[in-house]
Amino acid sequence: MPVPRARLLTRALAAVLPVALLVPAAPAAGADTSTTAHGPQPVARGYLGAVSSIDADATAIGTAVLRKGGNAVDAAVATAAALGVTDPFSAGIGGGGFFVYYDAKSRTVRTLDGRETAPAAADESLFLENGSPLPFWEAVTSGLSVGVPGTPATWRDALKAWGSRPLAALMRPAERLARSGFTVDETFHRQVASNAERFSAFPASRDLFLPGGAPPEVGSTFTNPELADTYARLAATGTADLYNGEVAADIADTVQDPPVDPDAGLTVRPGKLTVEDLAGYRTAEREPTHVRYRGLDVYGMPAPSSGGLTVGQALNMLETKDLAGMDESAYLHHFLESTRIAFADRNRWIGDPAYSDVPSAELLSQEFADSRACLIDPDSALTSPVAPGDPRSPQPCAQAAPGAPTPYEGEHTTHVTTADKWGNVVAYTLTIEQEGGSGIVVPGRGFLLNNELTDFSFAPSASGVPDPNLPAAGKRPRSSMAPTIVLRHGKPVLAVGSPGGASIITTVLQVLLGRLDRDLTLPEAVAAPRASQRNSPTAQVERAFLEQPATAGLIERGQRFADTPSEIGAVTAVERLRDGRWLAAAEPERRGGGSASVVLPVRLPWDR
Ligand code: GLU
Repeated sequence: MPVPRARLLTRALAAVLPVALLVPAAPAAGADTSTTAHGPQPVARGYLGAVSSIDADATAIGTAVLRKGGNAVDAAVATAAALGVTDPFSAGIGGGGFFVYYDAKSRTVRTLDGRETAPAAADESLFLENGSPLPFWEAVTSGLSVGVPGTPATWRDALKAWGSRPLAALMRPAERLARSGFTVDETFHRQVASNAERFSAFPASRDLFLPGGAPPEVGSTFTNPELADTYARLAATGTADLYNGEVAADIADTVQDPPVDPDAGLTVRPGKLTVEDLAGYRTAEREPTHVRYRGLDVYGMPAPSSGGLTVGQALNMLETKDLAGMDESAYLHHFLESTRIAFADRNRWIGDPAYSDVPSAELLSQEFADSRACLIDPDSALTSPVAPGDPRSPQPCAQAAPGAPTPYEGEHTTHVTTADKWGNVVAYTLTIEQEGGSGIVVPGRGFLLNNELTDFSFAPSASGVPDPNLPAAGKRPRSSMAPTIVLRHGKPVLAVGSPGGASIITTVLQVLLGRLDRDLTLPEAVAAPRASQRNSPTAQVERAFLEQPATAGLIERGQRFADTPSEIGAVTAVERLRDGRWLAAAEPERRGGGSASVVLPVRLPWDR
C-alpha cells in the first residue's frame, strides 16, 4: 500500500537536503560509462529508474539509456545486448528468452515469447539413436540441440511494441563494449575454463575464448570484434541479417556441418536447422499468467514456459497457510512441499501450447491448488516422485498415475530487471541453455549457438504417461524461466527473475515468499540460502542452507538433500519502495555477484 506521507517526506528531503548528502559516493551505481573498477554494487535505491543485472558493465549501459530518457524496455534491450558481450556463456543473440513488461499507462502486463523453435525437420526422434535416447552431454554439444534463436527478434519486437528508441541506438553501446573490450573477472575466466575441453574442439570457439590456448586471465581485457561487427549488421538491418541474410546462412551452415577440429576426437552430430527455419521465426505475444496472492497480483510467463504456471500454482497452494506465523523450519517445509507437488503437475501438463492442450487456467485455479495442498503434511515430507493431479477434474488429495521425475536442465541463464521514471517495469530472462550453450561459435560472427532443444524430453519421461514436451517440428521446448512482476492495485511492487534451469521456479518462489511473507528485505530475500525441491527424493541445496539451524527441523520431517551442495540461481530484482524510490537488488555473491543501479541514488536514514 503506498504511504503518501513517507513519499512526501522523501520528496521534501530530496528537495531540501544537499544532493551530496543523499547520493552515496558509489560511482558504479550511476556510472554512464562501462566500468568494473569499483566492483559490483548489489543494492541501489533512488529515483528516475533502475537496472539490475549480473554484470556491472551491462547495468551501467542500461542505466545510461534511462538517464538519456529511454524507457524500461529500451534499457532492458541495451542491458541484454551488453550481457551478450560480457556474459556470453549464459545468453546472447544465439539464444532465446521471455520478456515480461508492465505498462504504466495502461496498467497492464504484457509478455513476449522469444523461445527458440525446433527446425521443421525435427520430430519425436530428434534425440533418439537406434531407439534409445542420446547421452545428454553428447546432445548438448551438437548441431541437433540448436534451436532457431529468438533473442534478436525479441529485442526488435519488444522495442517496436513498447520501446522508445531504435534498436540500432540501443545496440551501439554493446557493440562498442565488444570492440574496446572489458575486464575479465573470475566468473568469466571460470566459465571458459569449465568449457575449455569442448571449446577447444571448435576452432572458432577456441580462437575466441582460448586465445593462446588458455582461458583469458583475470584482469586482462577481452575483446570480441567479430561480435561487434555482427551487432553492427543486426543494428543496420533491424535483425534481418540474422533471420534472412548472411548471418542466417552462416548459422544454418554451422548447425548442419559443425566446424569441429577433426583431431579433437569429439563426435559432434549435425542438426537440420535451415535458412527457411530462420526466416520463419516469430516471437509470440502471450497473455501473462496471473494469480492473486495475499491481495497482490502476480504476473508471469505462460507456456511454453512452466515458470508462471508453476510459481503461480505453488503460491495458490501456500496462500491458505499462515507462512508468516510459522517458525523457519515449518515455513521451509511448506515451501519445499509446495514445489515437490507443483513439479509433478508441471511435468505432466506443461509444454508448447501450440502442440498440446495445456490446461493453464485449471492449473492456476484455486480449486486445483487446494486439492493438491491437501497432500501437505506439516510434520512429514511426501515421498517423491509424487504423482500428478488432474487439473481438469481436481480430486482432493488424489494420487493416481505414476509420477515422473524432473528432467535435468542447464543452470546458466541470465536475468535483467529494469524500471523507468514513468513507472514501466521489465523482467526479462534470456539464455543459451547450458553454460556455453552448444559450445559452437558461428565462425566469423563471435557468438555461441544455444543448445535449447535439450530442454525437450528425449523420450517420454514416464512410461504410460503422456509427455507434452517431446520434440516436434517448429515446437518450443518447455522452459522454467520465470520473469515475474507483482502489482498492488495495478501499480508495480516487485519484479524478479533468476537463472538456474528448473531451479529458477523454486528460486523465484523463495524470493517472493521471503519478501512477501517472511519480512525479509528484497536484498535479504535475494541473498537467502536456497534449496530446490523438484519432485525428487533429494532436494538440490546450497551449503549455507544445510548449515542454518532450521534445517534440522526439515530433516526431522523427512526432507532429504543432495550430498553435494551447489550454488542455486543469481537473482536480479527491482522493488517500488513505499516512499516512492526504486530499490534495485542483484545477487551479492553467487556467480561473482551482480550489479544494481538507479538513475538518481538517494539513501535515507531508515534504509536497512
Ligand atoms: N533452458 C532453461 C530454461 O529454459 C534455462 C537454462 C538455464 O537456466 O541455464 O528453463
